[in-house]
This record gives sequence, C-alpha cells and structure tokens, in this order.
Amino acid sequence: MNDPPDIGLVPSPWSILEEITLVHNLVADFKARAKEYYFEVILSQYQCPECKGALRMVEASIKFH
Ligand SMILES: [Zn+2]
Repeated sequence: MNDPPDIGLVPSPWSILEEITLVHNLVADFKARAKEYYFEVILSQYQCPECKGALRMVEASIKFH
C-alpha cells in the first residue's frame, strides 16, 4: 500500500509563483535603478549647448532641457 504524497513538504505551485514574482520584481527594480544611475552618471557629463543643462532621461528618451 502506497502512502499518499506528503503535500506539506512540497511547495505549492502558488508559492513557487509568488517566489518567482518576488525575485522578478527585485531584479526588475534593481535593473531600473541601475539604468537610472547609469544615465545619471553618464549623461550628466554632457551639457546642453544652449542652457548648459545636463543631458537626462525624459520619459524614456534622452533629451536636453
Ligand atoms: Zn538646454
């Protein structure tokens, strides 16, 4: 006679999905901040020829002003 599988020891698909989502969000958050930091550092080295303002990310595009 076989014992039924012990469900308690096996993570449910939902908790696995939760973990994947959590890790995914952490990675996405990290990437977003790394990108922000990258653009801040790299783009701030360039100046607008008109107003001397720094080049920056504006709504997902790179612009002066
Ligand atoms: Zn400018």
